[in-house]
Amino acid sequence: MASRKPIVAGNWKMNGSVELVTSMADTLKNASNNKIDVLIFPPFPLLSKALESGIVAGAQTVSQEDAGAFTGEVDAKLVAELGCKYTLVGHSERRSIYGESNDDVAAKFEKAQQHNLTPILCVGESEEQREQGLTESVVSEQINAVINKLGVAALVNSVIAYEPVWAIGTGKTASPEQAQQVHKFIRDEIAALDVVVSQNIALLYGGSVNDQNSELLFAQADIDGGLIGGASLKPNAFVNICNSAQRNA
Ligand code: PEP
Repeated sequence: MASRKPIVAGNWKMNGSVELVTSMADTLKNASNNKIDVLIFPPFPLLSKALESGIVAGAQTVSQEDAGAFTGEVDAKLVAELGCKYTLVGHSERRSIYGESNDDVAAKFEKAQQHNLTPILCVGESEEQREQGLTESVVSEQINAVINKLGVAALVNSVIAYEPVWAIGTGKTASPEQAQQVHKFIRDEIAALDVVVSQNIALLYGGSVNDQNSELLFAQADIDGGLIGGASLKPNAFVNICNSAQRNA
């Protein structure tokens, strides 16, 4: 019997402010989200403020190192010590702008779990890869980098976000059918290794989700919520998206 609780997570990227934390916290307090988990990934300097305001907040990335001379990096232990429970790993912007490889992402995934953070592993193909029919092989390689390093059991305390790169920040959302097809592929791939893990892991969709398209996306059988970029900067729109997940829970 599957026990997947939907998650709606907002990725603020390098956006947001102290004021936005306050208004998001106020808006979320008045929303009823008892059937889903709602998370925000603000920039690092806003984490403490978000946590103090009652927001469940996590890191947008963590270092694969524990400590040391790594200027500008932030370690998973410190993020956990602040009170965070989650971190993103392998967001497409980290992969494409900062050159994170599948191996780097797997190392970050491991480091996050070592410090009791739940990694949200972001995967997804570029437009060119989709056109070449490579969607499944790209996604499979990204997930297998973690499974080959840590075993399928490592997925138990994790979440996967399928985010087609061509849909991130572009306004071009995958159709509910396109998204469901890849989510089912991911679940089936994991099921081939461990059925229980595959039934219990939350698979989020990300890529231009807004409060107009979230309802149909979240109604798909293998979509367990969303990772939301732009629309998570607008508290009312974000709460509407959470409400769609709540209705589909
Ligand atoms: C993201 O950055 O993870 C994302 C999905 O962004 P957007 O919703 O803006 O496409």
